[in-house]
Amino acid sequence: MPNTIETLPPNAISEPAFASNRHSFQTDDARLKPIADKVLGGERLSFDEGVTLYRSGDILAIGWLANHVRERMHGNVAYFNVNRHINPTNVCVAACRLCAFGRKKDTAGAYTMALEEAWQTAASGYTEAVTEFHIVGGLHPDLPFQYFLDLIRGLKERFPQVHLKAFTMVEVAFLAKRAKLSIEDTLIKMKEAGVDSLPGGGAEIFADRVRHIICDHKIDGDQWLDTARLAHKVGLRSNATMLYGHVENEEDRVDHLIRLRAVQDDTGGFQTYIPLAFHPDNTALEHLPRTTGLLDIKQIAIGRLMLDNFSHVKAYWQMMSPKIAQIALRFGADDIDGTVIEEKIYHDAGATTPQGMRREELIRLIREAGREPVERDTMYRPVTRTENSFTVAV
Ligand code: SF4
Repeated sequence: MPNTIETLPPNAISEPAFASNRHSFQTDDARLKPIADKVLGGERLSFDEGVTLYRSGDILAIGWLANHVRERMHGNVAYFNVNRHINPTNVCVAACRLCAFGRKKDTAGAYTMALEEAWQTAASGYTEAVTEFHIVGGLHPDLPFQYFLDLIRGLKERFPQVHLKAFTMVEVAFLAKRAKLSIEDTLIKMKEAGVDSLPGGGAEIFADRVRHIICDHKIDGDQWLDTARLAHKVGLRSNATMLYGHVENEEDRVDHLIRLRAVQDDTGGFQTYIPLAFHPDNTALEHLPRTTGLLDIKQIAIGRLMLDNFSHVKAYWQMMSPKIAQIALRFGADDIDGTVIEEKIYHDAGATTPQGMRREELIRLIREAGREPVERDTMYRPVTRTENSFTVAV
């Protein structure tokens, strides 16, 4: 596969010698047998095969296959990190129907952090020696691009060893427009200020039909993918998400995965795939039901099977609950995200999970699932800790 990123370090993949599947592949769904042959032979799955996986009820067979791939890539290791979320503003010019976080300027609950406040917020979560700040927010109509560059520069000065994972493709495209810069120049300036990588949010579902319903105020699917390509081109890795469990169908989900896979073939710049369960509370779509545990698990497993060129699949515990994330470690996931400390976006949408989790709790969840916990930094390098500091293996 061509990889146009010369400057990015390779993703770490651990020893693949572990295999916990104790029996051979079994299913009572005949449609899964040819798919299993391809997975076991290391062949890529097609669009139709992806749809078949979604339509099959044999979750144990699908999970067996996803677990096989996950252990082929990562052995028994499961990753977590110690991070903190910072959401500098919830003021947003868009009004996505999927969103419970964004507020119009000067309305109840709207906030924008002064730079000093944002830096203090970062410092308040620092006692556990955080290795990553995850920074995303709304599309503020008045904040200049310089505010975001100063925010990043100030964080880098104060916390030089912390990885700054900042700004979704949607925010990058919006800030480029406000600054009257090309997207590539915007990304270069962000990188110069201290952005180390980009999170994967705002991808939602790429299909236009769905986007018109859930988020017609933000960039379309092609623009999201093009922005990701440019980020990878300038040497910034990113994650990639899919928001599922609203008005999309199986074809929309597979289309989304295949479009991500195509960009990854060209750039190699996606680090982790993160399926995000839709939380309807306090959104314009709150009449929709919440996702089920079965759909959450399927999402992880099918993502692992379709995205053969992604190193990591994350079961984001804040979105799918610690209980489901723990099970997902046997269904294709190799990562459960981090301590987070204070999560706003999904809690505004009714998430009932804790706002953060201590490092020891994450380790317990992983161990209980029979996996070997490895604390990672954002680039999946193992982190070694002493009492209040850390070193990263390079
Ligand atoms: S999803 Fe993002 S862009 Fe859309 S309204 Fe919410 S904060 Fe704004």
